[in-house]
Amino acid sequence: MPRIGGIFVTGTDTGVGKTIVAAGLALGMKRRGWQVGVMKPIQTGAAERGGERGELYSPDAEFIQAALAGGGKLKDSPGEPEAGVAHSPFPFNPHTPYVLREPLAPLVCARLEGLEIEPERIIKASQWMEEHYSYLVIEGAGGVLVPICRNYFMIDLIKELGFPVVVVARASLGTINHTLLTLEALRSRQIKVLGVVLNQPTPSQSGICEQTNPEVIQSLGQVDLLGVLPHSPAISLEKGEVGNLEELVQKHLDLEPLIRALERPSSPLPYLQRRRSALLKELDRRYLWHPFTQMQEWTRGEDLLVIERGDGVYLEDSDGRRYIDGVASLWTNVHGHRKREIDQAIEDQLTRIGHSTLLGLTHAPAIELAERLIKIAPAGLSRVFYSDNGATACEIALKMAFQYWQQQGEVERASFVYFENSYHGDTLGAVSVGGIDLFHRLYKPLLFQAVRSPSPYCYRCPHQLDPLSCGLRCLDDLERIFKKQADRICALIIEPCVQGAGGMLVAPSGFLRRVRDLCDQYQVLMIADEVAVGFGRTGKMFACEHEDVQPDILCLAKGITGGYLPLAATLTTERIYAGFLGDYSQKRTFFHGHTYTGNPLACRAALANLDIFDRERVIERVQERSRQLAEGLGRLWELEHVGDIRQKGLLAGIELVRDKSSRDAYKFEEKIGIRVIQKARTMGVILRPLGDVIVLMPPLSISARELDELVSVTFEAIRQVTEG
Ligand SMILES: *Cc1c(COP(=O)(O)O)cnc(C)c1O
Repeated sequence: MPRIGGIFVTGTDTGVGKTIVAAGLALGMKRRGWQVGVMKPIQTGAAERGGERGELYSPDAEFIQAALAGGGKLKDSPGEPEAGVAHSPFPFNPHTPYVLREPLAPLVCARLEGLEIEPERIIKASQWMEEHYSYLVIEGAGGVLVPICRNYFMIDLIKELGFPVVVVARASLGTINHTLLTLEALRSRQIKVLGVVLNQPTPSQSGICEQTNPEVIQSLGQVDLLGVLPHSPAISLEKGEVGNLEELVQKHLDLEPLIRALERPSSPLPYLQRRRSALLKELDRRYLWHPFTQMQEWTRGEDLLVIERGDGVYLEDSDGRRYIDGVASLWTNVHGHRKREIDQAIEDQLTRIGHSTLLGLTHAPAIELAERLIKIAPAGLSRVFYSDNGATACEIALKMAFQYWQQQGEVERASFVYFENSYHGDTLGAVSVGGIDLFHRLYKPLLFQAVRSPSPYCYRCPHQLDPLSCGLRCLDDLERIFKKQADRICALIIEPCVQGAGGMLVAPSGFLRRVRDLCDQYQVLMIADEVAVGFGRTGKMFACEHEDVQPDILCLAKGITGGYLPLAATLTTERIYAGFLGDYSQKRTFFHGHTYTGNPLACRAALANLDIFDRERVIERVQERSRQLAEGLGRLWELEHVGDIRQKGLLAGIELVRDKSSRDAYKFEEKIGIRVIQKARTMGVILRPLGDVIVLMPPLSISARELDELVSVTFEAIRQVTEG
């Protein structure tokens, strides 16, 4: 069946004759040979069939249906069973998902009946309708700001259904104001308006107002007027009489603009799309400098992807290709792209303010989020300091720890302990405690003093021990460091459970706990950098929970906004916070801050992110998916060049080696990781490697089917590149 589309018919107000116009438009479309489906998502003031307490039905939907069926009188007739309804998979009629008794706003009506309208039901119904008709006419209820459920209006539903809109207004005094307000509201949400129909629902004289309205609305509203539908005594919605509607539509409404718009494909023509895409790539090569990228290769390479949009776990590029986002847009995305609740939270905040500072002022999103973070964070953390990315969250932690001890009078404590293979960001403070030589060594002369402790990299254990029986020998080194110089150390910084950028190195169990105990024993502050592992990634909200560890300072970023906006937070205990209190003149203030610290849009996104964790029981789902991932990855052991597979929750690293028995690595120039992910791209999966380690880090919302595909493409890509 050819997919043509549909329209959403909304009124500027209730009682403007929307239903008659919708029926007229549906007729006009049917006349073009399109198979028209009628939907009335929410009928309020429903009619009752067969007297008292009979079956409720939507008189509006039935009226339109009757018009399409060729007219006639339908009152008290049982009504034709509508096409396809019998086969719908829903326990409700998809043509009329909500039929409510009272003639009130949907939200109020629903509450009176003790229920809550769920937009999901309507969306699902419309998707089903789209599959069964080539063209939908959807009729709203009242105007665009009619409330449907909490924080959700008719206009939100219109936006979500995605159809262009026809606005029906009453041809009378007051119409200009109502119509312009409606148009403004629709346009502010980027909803396409196809035109306005002026309707005369009641007999009226043709006064000066009726004569001038059409022109004024067209010019001030910058909108097509599809016509003025005159009143006809032969048409009656109440009596279910379609009368001469078809004739009136033919005579008075111009449906051409509407039909033209619908027949024009909404996406640009393929050759235009290709040209635009090529131009973007050319401009990228001319003007951009990409992070962690050898630009000489980038500018010569072919495989430049311009990502245009996302949807769930999928990304779509400027050439219209779709990919699974296998690394959650660099470890950030949590519930998928275009997650309705987060989109909505940001949009709502935008109607208030985009940014305001936390220096000298405060705002609700930052306050509410701080409370929420403290409530879910490991016990003992009681204060939230915002910034805008993971590196700054760590910088702040380091500076806080340092200044804390300075103000405690322990001025000797000026050094930090970090782990080999650790990564805490790319600013110089974070680099000082970074343990990846490839990234960090060059900057050595610029860095402050810090002591390196061995990494829990069990596959290449420095002591060549087995993690099941090693007794955490690598922590003996840490203890030696503490023993020797704890009084000169302000803090230890650690990525709990998994060293991310270092190669997805999963620490043996008990490691984190033992580090905490050593810190306690030697009175060293513990900074937990959960920038990568926080927010459900490892199957707990925070990785520290796996070993019941309470850090002194916790760094959060990446997933905090669900992967939408840059935001970070450094959480501390009351003890550290109190160390900064004093008279103004004592200068114990923490003199640190970033201009966009605690940005309200980002905080709103973060709050919506946390809501979804609760509502959709994300952590439980992650645990289920993690088991599936473990099973799927098991198959990769059979590949000749897979040396190690490391997984924690929905995060995994697959280390490729030239020789499995000797564990010899590939040569750097072989770019084995890059070649594998390039191969995966041709199979519809986007990954980013860490050297020879292939990383899988999908959005937590990934479905079982999508995860299967991600794993099998990874398997195939590794096999073809390393064995092919
Ligand atoms: C990504 C990351 C950072 C740095 O975060 P940015 O937002 O890129 O500055 C810090 N620590 C860990 C563990 C990370 O994974």
